[in-house]
Amino acid sequence: MREKILVANWKMNYDFYETTSFIRNLLKILFDNKINHNKKIIIAPSFPFLHISNQILQGTTLSIASQNIHQKDKGAYTGEVSANMLKSIGIKKVLLGHSERRIYFFEDDNILLQKIKIALKYNIKILFCVGETISERNKNVHYSVIENQLKNTVFHFSLHEIANFSIAYEPIWAIGTGITASPKDAQNMHQFIRSLFSEKYGKEISNKISILYGGSINDINAKDILYQEDVDGGLIGNSSLDMNKFLNIIQS
Ligand code: PEP
Repeated sequence: MREKILVANWKMNYDFYETTSFIRNLLKILFDNKINHNKKIIIAPSFPFLHISNQILQGTTLSIASQNIHQKDKGAYTGEVSANMLKSIGIKKVLLGHSERRIYFFEDDNILLQKIKIALKYNIKILFCVGETISERNKNVHYSVIENQLKNTVFHFSLHEIANFSIAYEPIWAIGTGITASPKDAQNMHQFIRSLFSEKYGKEISNKISILYGGSINDINAKDILYQEDVDGGLIGNSSLDMNKFLNIIQS
């Protein structure tokens, strides 16, 4: 059975106090109340708080992911953070390909390819995001857009390396908009993505790889989306910043 995963993408929200107290409270609520969470929970706070957040979660089943890494090993890249730096503070996961990075920071497939390579070099697992715009969906080219995003990046890697990936399907029109893909549309796209993995790497890999959905998941719609056959969890932005909503999603 594939692992169910929930990733809280906090983006550029929460200061030191808010980050650490949210994580401590979440742990307390989950474990004091013995809340049944059959999902792997990953939190992606901002760079300055990765270390302390990781320390708080030591010895628990929850873990931390970085929201980004730079594609170069080291050097004169003022303001950037390398994979090696993350590894040195115990970070083992990174989000790559998020549409906000693609759009606001001009991360194209070529840059993402380099980011994947550097993450793999430092044994950092990758949650790779793909998604189409609303005009691509309206033109009915969304399947080929997703296929190309994967072919230009993730599919460059070997059968052996592919075990380090999870995929998040995040239709851009659904991120932060309050509009979600219908459970059926999400399932169709997830099934399509899995079929691409099957063609490229074989059935065993395609049955194993976790494909998460992201885009305005909340505590009301979570159940319908997350229980689709090929949806193995969620990448959650806004609703992961609200303790009650996040707890409801965890329990849905
Ligand atoms: C995201 O940023 O990956 C995301 C899915 O955000 P939201 O849940 O707010 O749409």
